[in-house]
Amino acid sequence: DVQTKWSKVDDYISNLLVQSDQVLEDTLVANEGAGLPAIDVSPSLGKFLHLLAKLQGAQRILEIGTLGGYSTIWLARALPQDGRLVSLELDPTHAQVAQANIDRAGLTSRVEIQVGEALDSLAKLTEESPVFDMVFIDADKPNNPNYLQYALKFSRPGTLIICDNVVRDGEVVDENSEDPGVKGTRELFDMIAKEPRLTSTAIQTVGGKGYDGFAAILVTE
Ligand code: SAM
Repeated sequence: DVQTKWSKVDDYISNLLVQSDQVLEDTLVANEGAGLPAIDVSPSLGKFLHLLAKLQGAQRILEIGTLGGYSTIWLARALPQDGRLVSLELDPTHAQVAQANIDRAGLTSRVEIQVGEALDSLAKLTEESPVFDMVFIDADKPNNPNYLQYALKFSRPGTLIICDNVVRDGEVVDENSEDPGVKGTRELFDMIAKEPRLTSTAIQTVGGKGYDGFAAILVTE
């Protein structure tokens, strides 16, 4: 079937190009062992985020939704030695597993996990008036519009915002959907479309994790 084909091609790409390593593999094993859901980005998307962060020359990255730190490790590895990544996670168990994975990856000094409701952490972060070069939004989807607002607040012209899972099996086009995730994502698209400081697109993806997609949003002014 079509999912088998998507998975096969994803594996082909991963094996040849992604160059995952023991640390990343161990991270996924640790996550599974701790009972975390396997909803991390795929290896090919993780590598893509890494490439984007490199292209961006990112020194400060904000991640909303840590889980076990798989995407965190991909992103933090793109940072220079004195770069910083702040990752926000609600679930203390997820954060604990992520911290161990990040320590094992040798990224302890570059990554700070903040535990709690992302909206609370973001409100607190506001006091520091931080500026991020890149923001990766990947937490509870109904809050996507709120997260985009904070991302904008913490941005400079040139900041890149990536928001994951915006296609959700094609459900995003269902304007009557009662799914809070779909509603949040549609609201996010409307916000992006209306906001003159943003230029953006979204890319549909298929692979081992099914059919989904991400939005890429550039802050222009
Ligand atoms: N970015 C991770 C990766 O690719 O490895 C995957 C993140 S997972 C899709 C979403 C995470 O967001 C979960 O760990 C979940 O506990 C967390 N989350 C859900 N609601 C949240 C909230 N209100 N505040 C902060 N984190 C939240």
